[in-house]
Amino acid sequence: MGAMANSPNGNAHHGGGQPEKRKIARIEVDRTLCIGSATCIALASEAFALDNENKAVVQPGWKKHDDETLWEAAKSCPVFAIKLFGEDGKQIYP
Ligand code: SF4
Repeated sequence: MGAMANSPNGNAHHGGGQPEKRKIARIEVDRTLCIGSATCIALASEAFALDNENKAVVQPGWKKHDDETLWEAAKSCPVFAIKLFGEDGKQIYP
């Protein structure tokens, strides 16, 4: 991690409202909860699809969506079936 040595005022604060880089490391759909409403697919079509049982399954291309979109898709699920996990393996949503 390079320190900002050339920062004119020795910037003491870190961050400053910059959104974090990719935080979602894994997505899971709880099939026992999913009711096939397809809201998640409407929001993130590369990340979710319905299988032949009308349950959402995470697609291999989910990383094509940015975290914000994936977060919106997860929040759109009426039954909280979409679980998001961070890089440390901890569940971050819901
Ligand atoms: S929004 Fe939730 S309930 Fe609807 S298809 Fe997606 S995972 Fe299933």
